[in-house]
Amino acid sequence: MSRAAATALPGHPHIAYADGSLHVEQRALDGLAREHGTPLFVYSAQWMLDALAAYQRGLAGRDALICYAMKANSSLGVLRLFAQAGCGFDIVSGGELARVLAAGAEPARVIFSGVGKTRAEMRQALDAGIGCFNVESEAELEVLNAVALEQPGRRAPVSVRINPNVDPKTHPYISTGLKGNKFGVAHDRAAAVYRHAAALPGLQVVGIDCHIGSQITEAAPYLDALERMLDLVQAIEAEGIRLHHLDFGGGLGIDYNGDTPPAADALWRELLARLDARGFGDRRIVIEPGRSLVGNAGVCVTEVLYTKPGEEKNFCIVDAAMNDLPRPAMYQAFHRIVPLREAAEGQALRYDVVGPVCESGDWIGRDRDLAVREGDLLAVLSAGAYCMSMASNYNTRPRAAEVLVHGDRTTLLRRRETIEDQLRAEQL
Ligand SMILES: *Cc1c(COP(=O)(O)O)cnc(C)c1O
Repeated sequence: MSRAAATALPGHPHIAYADGSLHVEQRALDGLAREHGTPLFVYSAQWMLDALAAYQRGLAGRDALICYAMKANSSLGVLRLFAQAGCGFDIVSGGELARVLAAGAEPARVIFSGVGKTRAEMRQALDAGIGCFNVESEAELEVLNAVALEQPGRRAPVSVRINPNVDPKTHPYISTGLKGNKFGVAHDRAAAVYRHAAALPGLQVVGIDCHIGSQITEAAPYLDALERMLDLVQAIEAEGIRLHHLDFGGGLGIDYNGDTPPAADALWRELLARLDARGFGDRRIVIEPGRSLVGNAGVCVTEVLYTKPGEEKNFCIVDAAMNDLPRPAMYQAFHRIVPLREAAEGQALRYDVVGPVCESGDWIGRDRDLAVREGDLLAVLSAGAYCMSMASNYNTRPRAAEVLVHGDRTTLLRRRETIEDQLRAEQL
């Protein structure tokens, strides 16, 4: 058995080599690349459904709502898959609301997060009848109250995002629950903010929420945040304000480079035991997982355009770039890169894998040992979350196509963008 087959790839068992060639479920990626061109995102529907099922198992028997944080991957076909599996959604803009409603989501199962909601977005969400606004500041409470009262008697359902000040031990750009960042209301202010919210006629307090960061690979930060949040729930309820739901946010990590985050079901069994021990087991539980529902389900297939030996480094120039896969450039993130043909011929050399964009920051992977020739196809793994949803048109590059595989069936979720698509909104 070769080394590649001996170590499970991120996305296994649905992303794996079979007969020497990399497959997503029952479809070989080289065939899909020939059919649709590259760069090409390919997702495993079963991986997504399995990831969702792990949360559903962990929360079985509870009044719980899983709201997929759709910014991780907001393609309509992915949203439809989750909507049909009973998911709610966590949105962060009016655009995401329109998108998720177009995919068939139930508005009552939509919650709206984010620090900068506009009045127009608030109106749009109130008109749609969403389930909850996760309010992130005192100023936002005032504006939401005023917008709700534009229709006499209307009340916006709210939850206040509190900042538990726990360190999720992740990259600073994706850590959100520490004192020094823009999200949420400080722990010490929370009770006063709730008192004020409860007194505003255009608001109805329904819950409390927190979200401590992303790509969290340990249980401890969640347990700490839970304890801190329950202390606040006690203080707030002592003032006669009932919190119907407790929202613990998202943030569970995935496998990029041998990472082993806790399994969602095991994590939730542990959290529920604490919740029960503190007497809050009867509350509705809301969670907002994003990355962990989609990240390991996706790959990005890219073609080697050139290999370029250098004095200090060798470069492997591929047709995917930072506009398709922004995470390395943005967060120095690591994605595994593997060949589509398992038994690559020739000798491996050490390369920086880079895209065609005119920026030194345009790299996909550094110091990778690859046996590659021009025209070979590579797969960038763990590319289901925060890749296509962050893609841009920088360098007037069309955004990639996306294909969903389920068993042996494939669906083109998004055709490759054309130059006409890009020019349409502009005029001379
Ligand atoms: C991004 C985000 C999430 C999802 O985070 P993941 O790390 O993808 O699970 C959940 N809630 C809020 C408020 C977010 O901003």
